[in-house]
Amino acid sequence: MTDDFKIDLHTHSHYSDGELTPEELMASAAKAGINAIALTDHDTIAGLDRAQSAARHLGLKLIAGVEVSVAWRAQSIHLVGLWIDPSDRTLVGHLEGQAELRRERIQQMCAKLTKQRLPGDKLLATLEAHGGILTRTHLAQAMVAEGCVSATDDAFRKYLAKGKPGHVASDWPALALGIEWIVKAGGIATLAHPSRYALSGGARQRLLEEFKAAGGEGIEVVSGGNGAHHTEGCAAMARKHALLGSVGSDFHSPRFAWNPLGRSLKLPDCITPVWHDRLP
Ligand code: AMP
Ligand code: MN
Ligand code: MN
Ligand code: MN
Repeated sequence: MTDDFKIDLHTHSHYSDGELTPEELMASAAKAGINAIALTDHDTIAGLDRAQSAARHLGLKLIAGVEVSVAWRAQSIHLVGLWIDPSDRTLVGHLEGQAELRRERIQQMCAKLTKQRLPGDKLLATLEAHGGILTRTHLAQAMVAEGCVSATDDAFRKYLAKGKPGHVASDWPALALGIEWIVKAGGIATLAHPSRYALSGGARQRLLEEFKAAGGEGIEVVSGGNGAHHTEGCAAMARKHALLGSVGSDFHSPRFAWNPLGRSLKLPDCITPVWHDRLP
């Protein structure tokens, strides 16, 4: 990558739990001096058409992406699929299944919140009116709007984080299956934010071995908000398992000022970029 070519391969729009429309996201990326951006909404590619038109008008290169939720040893893992074919009907079908799993999980979480003397039915009604992909972020936001908590962080800390009384672990598809969906849709499967999973060193090692054996090709070496320490650890994982390196802010909202689009997304020189044969 030439130093003046800026890339961000992990972002969210309001088609999942991001705050911006695809047009606003693309305009913000152009303003931030980004040249190539992947829209990688959670388990949906519904925002890609709008993002593509907006990117074209701005002279920005859009990479079609998706962040797929999978499970590995009872742990939720996120795969960022890049350069997928958005017209792949099989992938669209699988993602519709993910949306249904997400709806069922939100119903179960709202039922658990009712048991905590919170207005679970009302929260559920608000969320069901939303229509699109439902994430815990949407539930946290509805809880703030209902006055159950004062901020979304509190909703996660008190109720929605793993181990808290409103949490439900979804029955996500297995890691290898998610990789297969991405690869069959012509994409490259990358492991998102590898230092965010609560795994022992040995388990992390095994995860990477299974990821690679199942056809995973890349790993996010630089992930938004992570410090140099994480980057070094992820670069070591990439080298050890001969994986390509990706960079992504995991941008959700301009309100999270600590994690702007495209900030410090420089891949260490020793890592082969996931875009090495596709972008400058
Ligand atoms: P889900 O995929 O439905 O489990 O929702 C996960 C999303 O919730 C993540 O992609 C984050 O955007 C958001 N999230 C997870 N943990 C927290 C947290 N502690 N505080 C705020 N947002 C969070
Ligand atoms: Mn999210
Ligand atoms: Mn993620
Ligand atoms: Mn993400």
